[in-house]
Amino acid sequence: MRFLSGIQSSGNITLGNYLGAIKNFVKLQDSPDFTDFLVFIADLHAITVPQEKEKLRKNIKSLVALYLACGLDPKKVHIFIQSEVPAHAELGWVLECNGYIGELERMTQFKDKKEKQIGGVSVGLLTYPSLMAADILLYDTNLVPVGVDQKQHLELTRDLAIRFNSKYGETFVVPEPYIAPSGAKVMSLVDPTKKMSKSDPNPKGYIALLDDINIIKKKIKSAVTDSDGTIRYDLENKPGISNLLTILSCITNTSISDLVDKYKDSNYQNFKEDVAEAVANEIKPIQDKYNEIINSKLIDEVLDEGRDYANYLANKKINKVYNKIGLGRKR
Ligand code: ATP
Ligand code: MG
Repeated sequence: MRFLSGIQSSGNITLGNYLGAIKNFVKLQDSPDFTDFLVFIADLHAITVPQEKEKLRKNIKSLVALYLACGLDPKKVHIFIQSEVPAHAELGWVLECNGYIGELERMTQFKDKKEKQIGGVSVGLLTYPSLMAADILLYDTNLVPVGVDQKQHLELTRDLAIRFNSKYGETFVVPEPYIAPSGAKVMSLVDPTKKMSKSDPNPKGYIALLDDINIIKKKIKSAVTDSDGTIRYDLENKPGISNLLTILSCITNTSISDLVDKYKDSNYQNFKEDVAEAVANEIKPIQDKYNEIINSKLIDEVLDEGRDYANYLANKKINKVYNKIGLGRKR
């Protein structure tokens, strides 16, 4: 079975990306269920909203180093950059021509991100899910680990795969979502009703894995909560406290109910201090490893191998797709 997932190089990688995605990749890379493990940097997705050239380059490299620093093992995982495998954009186009504007306009991420654009909404922001579908379908991916925020896109991917298969004959594997049982969605520290997001213009809302450790602690200690004073899990009335419980639960591998029990006589300040300490202890070794490798040759070596392997797989699929549709000359 093949595993594939990616993260956009659209900003500073957050605790949400780590707990919702990277930490799970690291666990799964050792699973005997997967014969093939691919993780990529979604730089083509990143440009659906404006990016500055230098920052984009820096974010791409930084994301590779973070994947490695968080524990992805290049002996087990192929790590590559999306734009270095042209078949992603090629299949993205084909899928756009087999998708409907209406189904794309219904996507929650599009509706959310559209509101935040000041200089106009790019066509790419709307068609983003077709490119994401291409990412997945190119590799006959069986299981796609996604945070709750991406579940809707995966459903669309399945629809597109089924539609294409029935129109042109069996071509794509229809993928299943894999959603981690806990910690799938980390919320913003300033507005705990919104998800933590690396493209949030307010850095107080997210914890970046590369934030200074003291800043990380400070951000947690000043996370928005409520005035009720009790520590319990109640998403509707206590989203801030519930979010901190989720974070602590994920990091310490302790169930939320055990945590609620542990902190039943505690005040918010003590609780937040413990969360801050736990997060800092989780992130510190990642930062140390990151600093060790960010300027090493390892980054390019890993990316070269990943690029070649991904192109090998993706080209086989895009040739098949073009043949099924009747594009160009027979390949
Ligand atoms: P952007 O704001 O640019 O969309 P993002 O933080 O949402 O950035 P993505 O690159 O869209 O990050 O997503 C990468 C992975 O991280 C996906 O698997 C997604 O489900 C997961 N993820 C993103 N945000 C969170 C979050 N707040 N909690 C848990 N998982 C998350
Ligand atoms: Mg996102």
